[in-house]
Amino acid sequence: MICMSHCLVYIPRRAFCVNHHVRLGTRTKLHFYTHIPKQISDDNTLCVITLSPAQLTTLQHHAEACYPNEACALIIGRSDANKKITDEVVIVENAWQNDMGHSQRDRYLIAPSDIARVDRAASQHNLDLIGVFHSHPDHPSQPSATDLAQAWPEMSYLIAAVYAGRVTTLQSWVLQDEVFVEETLRSHEP
Ligand SMILES: [Zn+2]
Repeated sequence: MICMSHCLVYIPRRAFCVNHHVRLGTRTKLHFYTHIPKQISDDNTLCVITLSPAQLTTLQHHAEACYPNEACALIIGRSDANKKITDEVVIVENAWQNDMGHSQRDRYLIAPSDIARVDRAASQHNLDLIGVFHSHPDHPSQPSATDLAQAWPEMSYLIAAVYAGRVTTLQSWVLQDEVFVEETLRSHEP
């Protein structure tokens, strides 16, 4: 978890079982950490995704600009085993249309045409689509059951919690054995 206001990094090593997760209706207390605990995945490989401070700022500003709706973006870069390096974050439109009682306040949809366009452009630069970003307005930066149902293997899912129009935390998640586990989110200077 990155605290956007202080750029601190927190990496718990704990499987997140979505089946036991309910979205909280009230604001939860957020914890910030000043150290980087070691996180080892099941195969003893560090799960890491790295973004530059500018890329993090882009995601933060986009999430705040879209509040109270969910924002989304695609993450382009390179992956090697369980390590991912971000080359670019591509802002995309939340294409969710009001449906079944849900609006863009609690749902996002990235148009398949946007995914295809960004993926094609990435391939032309020998890069891959390595992750998806979206925001949770007034909810924690943890995946919902809907996020789990839509998740693709090997992709990173970056989620920003936005409370009262301000991003408070950013976390990244990956699927392991059909549950989300948190991966280390690092920021580096370009
Ligand atoms: Zn979500």
